[in-house]
Amino acid sequence: MLSIKNLRASVEGKEILKGLNLEIKAGEVHAIMGPNGSGKSTLASVLAGNENYEVTGGEAWFDGKNLLDLSPEDRAREGVFLAFQYPVEIPGVSNINFLRTAMSEIRAYRGLPPMEAKEFLKTVKEKQKLVEFDAALANRSLNEGFSGGEKKRNEIFQLAMLEPKLAILDETDSGLDIDALRIVSKGVNKLRSDKNAFLIITHYQRLLDYIVPDFVHVLYNGQIVKTGSKELALELEEKGYDWLKETSKATE
Ligand code: ADP
Ligand code: MG
Ligand code: MG
Repeated sequence: MLSIKNLRASVEGKEILKGLNLEIKAGEVHAIMGPNGSGKSTLASVLAGNENYEVTGGEAWFDGKNLLDLSPEDRAREGVFLAFQYPVEIPGVSNINFLRTAMSEIRAYRGLPPMEAKEFLKTVKEKQKLVEFDAALANRSLNEGFSGGEKKRNEIFQLAMLEPKLAILDETDSGLDIDALRIVSKGVNKLRSDKNAFLIITHYQRLLDYIVPDFVHVLYNGQIVKTGSKELALELEEKGYDWLKETSKATE
């Protein structure tokens, strides 16, 4: 599904990703861990097409398409979803209307007509039930005045509705409390299937107690320096990241 080869990216002239390799297949859940500043959020931003980041080398293929050639909008329409992609509060636009528009765009891109109102509402109800999303939140303005936990619930609801092929969740700086961890992990576990994939970026080993990843990668100094199973997360919790320093071949 996603194949990243020797990816290099800079922000404000400083190289952050220094030759990153990653392969993700449908049905897999990958976790990326790493010290602060190693480039985790940069990777998420580059994959989503954030224009503040300059790709200076390497490739990223998504479902056989050159991801780096696509606009951010087309990446979303192709099925790449970055949580926090729409963090903005939009007063006056309800969640539901936002999702209706987003879904219509995705369907149009795939040559499908918009969903009939009745079918759309049925889908909303089904997905609300699936991820235990409060109907009152759905009708509120997008993210306006949402608490941290409510934003997480909303993100999971968006995931349920939009059914992306690849969901990238960058949780690093959101200061998740235990309730939010539960919301995210329960949602991901309900939504994971053999047709989609998740890339979960986290500081916290704790999250991986709830979402059992197929692979854990360590991002260090702009490269993936180690890949393992879920046990690697426990090892990192215990030993920290310094022991991986010598495996990093990139210059600081
Ligand atoms: P992580 O998510 O692993 O903590 P980031 O990808 O956020 O790391 O940051 C990697 C490095 O890139 C850091 O040194 C950070 O200061 C720098 N960086 C990231 N985004 C920007 C930006 N928009 N402008 C300037 N520097 C940035
Ligand atoms: Mg950080
Ligand atoms: Mg980060």
